[in-house]
Amino acid sequence: MVIVMKAGAEQQSIDAVIAQIRELNYTPHPIQGTERTVIAAIGDERGKHELQQLESMRGVNKVVPILEPYKLSSSEIRPGERTKIQIGDVEIGGETLILMAGPCSVESREQILESAEIVKESGAQILRGGAFKPRTSPYSFQGLGEEGLQYLAEARDKTGLLIITELMDSHDLRLVEQYTDIIQIGARNMQNYGLLSRLSETKKPVMLKRGMMSEINELLLSAEYILSEGNYNVILCERGIRTFETATRNTFDLNAIPVIKKMSHLPIIADPSHGTGHWEYVNPMAKAAVAAGADGLMIEVHPDPENALSDGAQSLRPDKFRQLVKELKPFIQASGRTF
Ligand code: PEP
Ligand code: MN
Repeated sequence: MVIVMKAGAEQQSIDAVIAQIRELNYTPHPIQGTERTVIAAIGDERGKHELQQLESMRGVNKVVPILEPYKLSSSEIRPGERTKIQIGDVEIGGETLILMAGPCSVESREQILESAEIVKESGAQILRGGAFKPRTSPYSFQGLGEEGLQYLAEARDKTGLLIITELMDSHDLRLVEQYTDIIQIGARNMQNYGLLSRLSETKKPVMLKRGMMSEINELLLSAEYILSEGNYNVILCERGIRTFETATRNTFDLNAIPVIKKMSHLPIIADPSHGTGHWEYVNPMAKAAVAAGADGLMIEVHPDPENALSDGAQSLRPDKFRQLVKELKPFIQASGRTF
């Protein structure tokens, strides 16, 4: 259920409602909107009629059920409003298009520092690079681990870019959060519920990538694991799904962008690199994603894709990346955003 407070309700009334929700054995999740506060009361739905009594409390406008199974990620709890996540001076989900770019993996100090310069120069705000890599084969390069995180941190210090990197195992949470600005949860771990629940232990925002065989509904329910434990800074990412098509690595589900924007208030980033698996298709699908309303893009860029230790085939060369950013500008403007 969601308890919608009256516009201008006093903090005292809000606190009283929160206390009463706890009293009834539900977990309160207050959400501060621009006009009013709403408080989601999450718990066993069987007793939800008890919550109806809150309607008579001071400052309460109405008590309404949240119909979708994904409660806190649902747009029902923030009608007409979108979540914006502020990290330093970067706002994700706001008017400015977010560009996250960098190599698939951190391979060496030189490689990530060089990539960071390219990314910075393009005007992007966030540097990506995996230090813990989820590889299909155990014999493939698995990432540099903490050494990779240190190089990423050095790249951030040199350029002022924010960094995003993947967390694969909850045992590494303390280590990864120490270095990164945003924690990436990869497609393969979208339904690792144990890992998702642990993300409440960090204040760092989390970017949750859609599983390659997951429905949008399931992506939102996975986000719910993070939100319901109290980490409200969740960013979603469409990165393509498996279909019968083999001409591309994945089928980039462009539909997911407007669909997620309707279903959820959370920011949505598009990853056409993994979505297509081929560098030639990244440019047109990046433009399409911006036109479809994505809040940002994640693009793989590598100084020397032929010799990349992972995902070279889908990584843009620096010149192709620069060209993409240049060509994206009219699409960004046409979609009502700035860069
Ligand atoms: C990545 O971002 O390099 C990655 C492994 O992505 P995904 O989890 O979407 O496959
Ligand atoms: Mn990759």
